[in-house]
Amino acid sequence: MTPTATAPLAILHEVFGYAAFRDAQADIVDHVVAGGDALVLMPTGGGKSLCYQVPAIARHRAGRGVAVVVSPLIALMHDQVGALEEAGVHAAFLNSTLTLDDAQRIEREMMGGRLVLLYAAPERVTTPRFLAQLDSLHERGLLSLFAIDEAHCVSQWGHDFREDYLALNVLHERYADVPRIALTATADDLTRADIIERLQLQDARVFISSFDRPNIRYAIVEKDNARAQLLRFIHDEHEGEAGIVYCQSRKKVEETADWLKSEGVAALPYHAGLDADLRRRHQDRFLREDGIVMVATIAFGMGIDKPDVRFVAHLDLPKNIESYYQETGRAGRDGQPADAWMAYGLADVVNQRRMIDESPAGEEFKRGQRGKLDALLALAEAHDCRRVRLLDYFGEPSQPCGNCDNCLNPPATWDATESARKALSCIYRFHQNGGQRFGAGHLIDVLRGKATDKVAQFHHERLSTFGIGADVSEVQWRAVLRQLIALGHLRTEGEYNTLELTASAREVLRGDVAMLLRQASDAPKRKKAARVERSKDKAPPVKLDDDGLERFAALKAWRAEVAREHNLPAYVVFHDATLAEMARSQPESLDALAAISGVGTKKLEAYGREILRVLEAGPT
Ligand code: ADP
Ligand code: ZN
Repeated sequence: MTPTATAPLAILHEVFGYAAFRDAQADIVDHVVAGGDALVLMPTGGGKSLCYQVPAIARHRAGRGVAVVVSPLIALMHDQVGALEEAGVHAAFLNSTLTLDDAQRIEREMMGGRLVLLYAAPERVTTPRFLAQLDSLHERGLLSLFAIDEAHCVSQWGHDFREDYLALNVLHERYADVPRIALTATADDLTRADIIERLQLQDARVFISSFDRPNIRYAIVEKDNARAQLLRFIHDEHEGEAGIVYCQSRKKVEETADWLKSEGVAALPYHAGLDADLRRRHQDRFLREDGIVMVATIAFGMGIDKPDVRFVAHLDLPKNIESYYQETGRAGRDGQPADAWMAYGLADVVNQRRMIDESPAGEEFKRGQRGKLDALLALAEAHDCRRVRLLDYFGEPSQPCGNCDNCLNPPATWDATESARKALSCIYRFHQNGGQRFGAGHLIDVLRGKATDKVAQFHHERLSTFGIGADVSEVQWRAVLRQLIALGHLRTEGEYNTLELTASAREVLRGDVAMLLRQASDAPKRKKAARVERSKDKAPPVKLDDDGLERFAALKAWRAEVAREHNLPAYVVFHDATLAEMARSQPESLDALAAISGVGTKKLEAYGREILRVLEAGPT
C-alpha cells in the first residue's frame, strides 16, 4: 500500500484501518471527490465524518489543498483534530482558544496548502479576514472542499438554530466551483428544504440513510418517583457506565447531579449557566474518564462523538421527536447495545403545552410546535413498537423491532373512553358549581371519592360525580388526564394548572372519542432474564476468555497512558472494539496487527511495537 494512495478505498484502509465503506459512504465519497455537492442525512453514529474526511484527503493528495470544515462547537475541535493527527492526517483548528503564535503557525500551514483539513466555527469562516485568506487559496487552486457539519443549525425549524450559519451561503456565492458537503443527523422535510434553500444546495445530490439505530433500545416509563426510577435504571443496567441524563432546567440539573452523587454515581452537572471553565472541565472529564454520568440541559451534547455512551435518560419531556431522536442518538455510536430511557408524566405535558402557549412566537409557529409536541406525546403513550413510530415520523416504514419496551413487554391496554367522560363531566360540574377551577389532584380526589379538606371546603361530596371513578386508580386517572390534555380536549390555566374544558371536550362527553390507554404497570421493573442478558452486554464487543479479558485490560491500561500523554480521549487512540480484537486474535507480527479493523498505517507505526510488547508480556 503506498502512503500516497488517492483512491478512497485505499485511503480508508491506510489512514483509518477500516475494511470497507458503510452503506452510502462509498457513493457520497466518490461524488464529493469528483467535485459534486452533497447533502448527507445520516443518523448519529452512522459515520458522517468519513464522508468528508476521505474526500479531503483524496483531494489534498491530488494537489487540491485544504478542506475547510465548518463546525459549530469550538470546544470539540481539539479532539476532532487530535483524532485526525493520530491517524496521520495533517489537520488543525482555528478558534479563540489558540495563542497568537499557534494561530499564526496554523495560518501559515493553511496558506501554504499543507493542511489537509482546517476546522473553524461559522462566525470565523465568514469574517472578511478569513474570506480574504480563502480568496487567496482559491486563486491558487488550493481550496479543496467545504464541509458544513451539523447543517440543520441553518434552519429555524431545527432545534439548534445558529444565526452564524445563515451567512455560510457566501461560500457558494464566492467559490461556486469548490464542492460543498453539508451533513446532519436531523432533518424532517421542512428542515431539509430549509437547509437546501439557505445554503443554496439546490444542485446538491441528497443522500438519505436509514435513520434506524438498531442497537438503541427505547423505553418510556410513566413517572412515578422519577429520581428513584432513574437510580434503579442506572444501578440495574448501567452501573459504572457512561451516560447522559437530560433535564429541562438548570436547577434540576444541579439537584439531580448532587443527588446522584450522594447515591454513589459519578455524576457531573452541565448547563449554560455554569462558568465556561467549569463546563469545559466537566465535558473533558466526561470524554476522557470512564463511566461518568453527565446530567445536563440540552446545552450539552451537540457534536459529542464519544462512542461508548451507554445510555441517554430523559427526566423531562423533550420539545419534539426531532430533539428526542437527536438526544437519544448520542447513545451507542460504537454500535454496541445502548439504552434510550425516558420518564414522563402529566406535569411534562402541561409544561410543554404551556411553554408553547406562553411563548412570544407567532400563531402559525405555535401551531407547528403544538403539532410536533402531539407527535411526541403519541409516541410516549404508544402501546405498539416505539421504533416503528419514530421511523415513521421520519418517513421510513418498518416492522416491529423487538428491541423496545413495548416489543419486549407488550403493555396491557384498557378502554378509558368512559373514564374520560367522567373526568370531563366532573370538571363541568365544578364550573356549574360556583365557576371554580381546580387542578388534577383535586379532580382525582373527587372522582375517587376521597374526603379531603378541600372536598369539604367546597362541598364537592355533594356533586353527582363524587366517587364515580373509585374503581380507577390514581395512576390511571393521571394517564387519562394526560391523554385528554395531549389530545387537546383539556387545557391547563394559570399558576396552579387548573383544568379547563376546550371546545372539543364536547365530542368526548358525547362518547364520540374512543380512548385506549396503556395499562400502567405498578411494578415497572424489567424481567430478570432481560437483566442477565444485559449484563453480558458490558463485556467487550468480542467474546474473550479469562486470559483474553486480562489482555484487554492490559491494553486498556496502556491506552489510558497514551491518551493522557497526548491529552486526548482514550477512544481517539483506539476504540474498545479494536483493542478487544487485538486481545482475542493476539497478533504476533506488525502485519497481523495491521489487519485488525481500526489500525491504520500511522497508528501501526506509532504504536505497533508497543502493542505487540503488551500482548507478549501477557496477563500480569
Ligand atoms: P457520525 O458523525 O455520523 O455520528 P462518526 O463519523 O462519528 O458518526 O462515526 C461513528 C463511528 O463509526 C466512528 O467511531 C467511526 O470511526 C466508525 N466508522 C465510520 N465509518 C466506518 C467504516 N466504514 N468502517 C468502520 N467504522 C466506521
Ligand atoms: Zn419495538
